[in-house]
Amino acid sequence: MIQPTGLAVLAKLHLAERIRHEGARIDRLFGRAGDRVVLDVSYSAMPRGDRFGIGIHRASLFAALHDAILAEGIDIRTDHTVVGSRLVAGGRSLLFADGQASEGFDLVVDGLGTRSALAPPTGYELDYGALWASLDWPGGSPLDPHTLSQRYRRSSTMAGVLPLGVGAGETLRAAFFWSLKGTDYPRSRETGLAAWKQEVLALWPECEPFLEQIVDRDQLTFARYAHRTLKTPLEDRLVHIGDAWHSASPQLGQGANMALLDAWALARALSEHGDIAQALTEAIALRRRHVKLYQALTCLFTPVYQSDSRLLPFVRDRLVGPVSKLWPATAIQASMVSGLIGDPLGTLGLEEYSALVETQALPA
Ligand SMILES: Cc1cc2nc3c(=O)[nH]c(=O)nc-3n(C[C@H](O)[C@H](O)[C@H](O)COP(=O)(O)OP(=O)(O)OC[C@H]3O[C@@H](n4cnc5c(N)ncnc54)[C@H](O)[C@@H]3O)c2cc1C
Repeated sequence: MIQPTGLAVLAKLHLAERIRHEGARIDRLFGRAGDRVVLDVSYSAMPRGDRFGIGIHRASLFAALHDAILAEGIDIRTDHTVVGSRLVAGGRSLLFADGQASEGFDLVVDGLGTRSALAPPTGYELDYGALWASLDWPGGSPLDPHTLSQRYRRSSTMAGVLPLGVGAGETLRAAFFWSLKGTDYPRSRETGLAAWKQEVLALWPECEPFLEQIVDRDQLTFARYAHRTLKTPLEDRLVHIGDAWHSASPQLGQGANMALLDAWALARALSEHGDIAQALTEAIALRRRHVKLYQALTCLFTPVYQSDSRLLPFVRDRLVGPVSKLWPATAIQASMVSGLIGDPLGTLGLEEYSALVETQALPA
């Protein structure tokens, strides 16, 4: 999901319209455990009611950014596995798996993600991951195409459907996900597809037209999550951004948005400071507080929705669920999901996309 934070960066890159067109507008996050509503967040609960998220396939987001890079004429070298880097006379050089090394660069920006070969190992793998599949949105589905819908049994079982929009095609797509512990993944592959579908349908019968499209286990990709934050995302001529700096479970759906904000902060600092070391210090300073805050919030909320705990879902279902439907909890939750707590946009001099549309800075 792209949040208003990520969308503000994409607007600066003139990509917001494309992402909005290719993705699905998301107005609400809604989850049930049996008859109880345990998650109900509407973007409209925030004082400014025109905010929304966008559900989009990561390939569409990638293609939009990739096209923008090509349009700038930036040289791309593919088919290199990075294994490390070292300082050389002309700057910092990348080391590749085939034993080759690059020329020296003024600056290496590490965007290699949570298992970056350029950063020291830190943090921990989370117990729970999820099986994911990209499917067509079935005609006549009772699910709302503008809602991220989820169903829970305690915190240990969770299924979800995220509308993804049409991408570059014309068919509405959806992401289906099913939580699974990393340790249970090998055994789950041996379980027949039919038995697995029965388990899902017992939790959420309305998913049947989605599940019908899964005919081969290989349509399901298992994603594991890691929670990690580098203490020092800076080295000489090297900066770590996005998941390479900080990663968390996707429970709050912030990671890609945080990566976009990091990239924007870096671009801004580099444009303002001639000295690279000074620019890097400034870029990290612009982002550190927001990163810390959301790493903590994600760490706090993940076990409530994804863990073996029996106490946490018990409290969630009977106390947190009902209270969260009352103002101001509704507005606080929506701000949290939007990524806007801590004013990350103001810090970076960014404006929200919907505000830009209002002021005619962009076509509506
Ligand atoms: C299942 C799942 C759901 C998620 N949902 C959301 C969501 O809804 N919203 C959200 O904002 N975030 C979400 N996230 C988090 C989000 O995907 C990440 O935070 C985001 O992709 C980080 O971007 P990045 O560019 O830093 O790293 P990545 O997207 O991980 O990109 C790193 C790239 O580097 C490449 N690479 C890695 N190692 C090497 C190497 N040694 N040599 C060469 N190339 C290498 C990888 O192939 C990859 O292309 C989700 C994550 C997962 C796993």
